[in-house]
Amino acid sequence: MARYGGPVCRLCRREGVKLYLKGTRCDSPKCSIVKREQPPGVHIWRRGKVSKYGLQLREKQKLKRSYGIMERQFRRIFGIATATRGNTGEALLTLVERRLDNVVYSLGLAVSRPQARQMIGHGHITVDGQRVDIPSFFVREGHVIRVSSKDKVKKAVEENLEIAKSRGIPEWLELEADKQTGRVIRLPRRDELAAEIQEQLIVELLSK
Ligand code: SF4
Repeated sequence: MARYGGPVCRLCRREGVKLYLKGTRCDSPKCSIVKREQPPGVHIWRRGKVSKYGLQLREKQKLKRSYGIMERQFRRIFGIATATRGNTGEALLTLVERRLDNVVYSLGLAVSRPQARQMIGHGHITVDGQRVDIPSFFVREGHVIRVSSKDKVKKAVEENLEIAKSRGIPEWLELEADKQTGRVIRLPRRDELAAEIQEQLIVELLSK
């Protein structure tokens, strides 16, 4: 299965956080963020006092880039979060976490979210027995996610699962590695999600 190359480390350096865009490389000492004491590019936003707008924008970019979401999609998700009862910021984070590409990655079936998107786009993933080729599909409690494909893909997923062992599985998901199958036990809670994201800043920015 294709591993992802390209200049994506640049995005992490620009944001100053690990966005986990390069699969196994991200957990290795080869990670550009780990290799450098201070991420290059940091001076771009630490040169002077950052405005409130700058901070808000940075949080939004960080979240979007972490999960690989385009602006239009992101606005759509924010619209759903706004219409949801309760805290909009938490709803936003929960929704991005529930995307099928993130779930496939979190289960360890893929080594990165970009790879998970590719697997879904190529029709290798089913949800409750139905093929789903939309990475932005939101999983719900009880959904069963399975790799349903040719032996070649299953072999690659076996390797991915081995690599992902050290990452662990979020508590809201359950994995049967030998069957390459995962289940959504319940929806994720805020305290289980990206701690480094200040979602309130994103809500303030998009609510203007
Ligand atoms: Fe590159 Fe590290 Fe970012 Fe992964 S986490 S994309 S290796 S800088």
